[in-house]
Amino acid sequence: MHQPHVFLAAHACHPAQSRGRRHTQAPAPTRSEFQRDRDRIVHSTAFRRLVYKTQVFLNHEGDLFRTRLTHSLEVAQLGRSIARSLQLNEDLVEAVCLAHDLGHTPFGHAGQDALNECMRDYGGFEHNLQSLRVVDTLEERYPDYDGLNLTFETREGILKHCSRRNAQLMERREPGDVGERFLRGWQPSLEAQLCNLADEIAYNAHDIDDGVRSGLIGMEQLCDVPLFERYRQQALKEFPHLRPQQEQRRLLNETIRRMLSDQVYDVIAATSQAIAEHAPRSVEDVRRSPAMVAFSCGMSAQSLELKQFLFRELYRHERVMHTMALAQQVVRELFRLYFEAPGEMPPAQAALAMAGDEMKRARVVSDFIAGMTDRYAAREHERLTGRRLLGD
Ligand code: MG
Repeated sequence: MHQPHVFLAAHACHPAQSRGRRHTQAPAPTRSEFQRDRDRIVHSTAFRRLVYKTQVFLNHEGDLFRTRLTHSLEVAQLGRSIARSLQLNEDLVEAVCLAHDLGHTPFGHAGQDALNECMRDYGGFEHNLQSLRVVDTLEERYPDYDGLNLTFETREGILKHCSRRNAQLMERREPGDVGERFLRGWQPSLEAQLCNLADEIAYNAHDIDDGVRSGLIGMEQLCDVPLFERYRQQALKEFPHLRPQQEQRRLLNETIRRMLSDQVYDVIAATSQAIAEHAPRSVEDVRRSPAMVAFSCGMSAQSLELKQFLFRELYRHERVMHTMALAQQVVRELFRLYFEAPGEMPPAQAALAMAGDEMKRARVVSDFIAGMTDRYAAREHERLTGRRLLGD
């Protein structure tokens, strides 16, 4: 038998008290239910595709930029480290962090916006809902059901946002499932709340690193961001030899390292305080309390400032915008081409698309495109149009 989690707090998710899976399964002999979820996610097809999906920079732009896969690993590392300090369930946090971006389209947010626009008349496209759709429906790994058959708690964490309309649809189909909390204003487990914040901590830090590496943002610009400048000054004070130009890479790494550590300690302190204040005695108490995993007010304001800086100077940079416009064109044209000629998709998708009405066909096309890696999408677009818009 697997070891019980002796160090879990009362308000953590205990595997033995899981709300279970849609298809009942006997417990695994050596692993907890959430370890099992984590393992299923790591072995899924969608997980392997993350390596060729864009975080901010397209895959062909450089080998050292983050991809969705390395981003997800960094989120999981931060999440686990905070979870252990707060006596939350580390296995559940790891499972949710590794799965949180499975539903992302190729080409990052630009791809998602384009696909959402294509799906406007067919129920829309939301990447959080798509991540859940991947683990619930699209993965084909088991003989007698679709999806990975994950526990309620992991699925709850994966669906971090959901429109009211989609929550209502889900609730009608399966009352009391993971859509319910969006209608009742409940919080998810602390483990799920933690994954959201770990995501934010991870991308703020690694987007600075990738932004500087790409040459799109400079260290001088970053000096105007108080959160960054504070740690840069600290690093320089302790290691004055990092001042010269040739040491800037090391200085940048040391600054980001300090910023990450401090944000982790800040979340642990602020969350411990919130937990002490609301004193939840179970996960059900957590769900009915206000959100508790958070930065302190000061860190929250500074993190927002950094986010706004990255938005202005990196995500909206002319060069990024230019690539993203091409990426959106690829997605829009692929959608139109497959929708009009479903036979251009592989046989399984083509058969599914041709068997249903327009709504169904649009969803099959949307699932097919959402599952693509950046380079597969660019190649398919070239095959169908004769034009290469992205990559080499
Ligand atoms: Mg993410």
